[in-house]
Amino acid sequence: MKPKTADYPVARLIEVFSAIQGEGLNVGTRQIFIRFALCDLRCHFCDSAHTWDAPPMCHIEQTPGCRDFETHSNPVSLPLLLEWIERQNQPCLHDSISITGGEPLLHAPFLVEFLPQLRDLTGLPIYLETGGHRPQQLSMILPYLDSVGMDIKLPTVSGEERWQAHAEFLQRCYSSQAEVFVKLIISHQTDPTELEKAAELVAACSPTIPVFLQPVTPLQTPHYLHETELLPPSPEQVLTWQALMKRYLKQVRVIPQTHKAIGQL
Ligand code: SF4
Repeated sequence: MKPKTADYPVARLIEVFSAIQGEGLNVGTRQIFIRFALCDLRCHFCDSAHTWDAPPMCHIEQTPGCRDFETHSNPVSLPLLLEWIERQNQPCLHDSISITGGEPLLHAPFLVEFLPQLRDLTGLPIYLETGGHRPQQLSMILPYLDSVGMDIKLPTVSGEERWQAHAEFLQRCYSSQAEVFVKLIISHQTDPTELEKAAELVAACSPTIPVFLQPVTPLQTPHYLHETELLPPSPEQVLTWQALMKRYLKQVRVIPQTHKAIGQL
């Protein structure tokens, strides 16, 4: 018997849209972005503070890349979300689907149901973008993921300290079939001893895991929580820090947020 609408899993969303990925290993590729609401971290550099709480409404793009958003009330049922993704999934357009937030792993029970159906519907690879601090929830959905981009939060830049959780998270990714890379946001205030600690953490798992150093993008408008403005590192700092990390790791790339450089939403 078909379930009643009220029986379907639901999730709280921010938005669904089609865009060019501007960060990490998938930079430059076209993705369908599913941005989930809620985050349990409070990074100083956060450019998605609007995701921290669940809004009453979410924004759904009708035509891929056209920003012709319609609004729907939260929470959203699983079949309705699949309908929206089907509308986005035009032939030959997208390389993969980005599960992002906020912190998408706060929706792990929903994702366990949703991701296998998403793959059946689209055939597209599934990429998880995460703060990298919730290993238990990761394990619930790892079998359905093709790649994972996880952060290591540097305390002097982010204000968050999650070393132990990051180490466990990375180990679980590396032991799975999913491809994994690590992203570190760096600013002029970054403490190089934290970069060295991060490099050791990654190398302890495998020195072949790609690491991306991402110079912080200054926020357009000062956020009420930001007591001091985070500025990008100088070219000299970036060169020194890349060299420092390459003593431990084979792949350390420096890439700023390219979607902001091209003025993309
Ligand atoms: S984990 Fe991401 S969404 Fe959450 S506060 Fe940090 S930067 Fe913002």
